[in-house]
Amino acid sequence: MKPPLLCMGDGANGSGCYRPTDHGPALMVSDEHWRAIAPLPEGGGVLCVSCMHDRFVALGFAEGSVPARFVSGPFAAAEAPPTRRQTNG
Ligand SMILES: [Zn+2]
Repeated sequence: MKPPLLCMGDGANGSGCYRPTDHGPALMVSDEHWRAIAPLPEGGGVLCVSCMHDRFVALGFAEGSVPARFVSGPFAAAEAPPTRRQTNG
């Protein structure tokens, strides 16, 4: 059995989150936004939704400034997120 992917976020007291991320809702942001919060170099690692939120807040991202959408679970959006403009044509 594959081991669960554990969140690499800081957790409530900086002691580590370790929440399994493979059963929770997957929240997608743009590559650029992900690189700003990724726990490992070059966009590596995994974060739960709460730790994604905490990292964006800690970096000073304003309310509503990070386009995102859930891609799994009951909140999953059917349409593509408004995160990127089509530039080819
Ligand atoms: Zn977490």
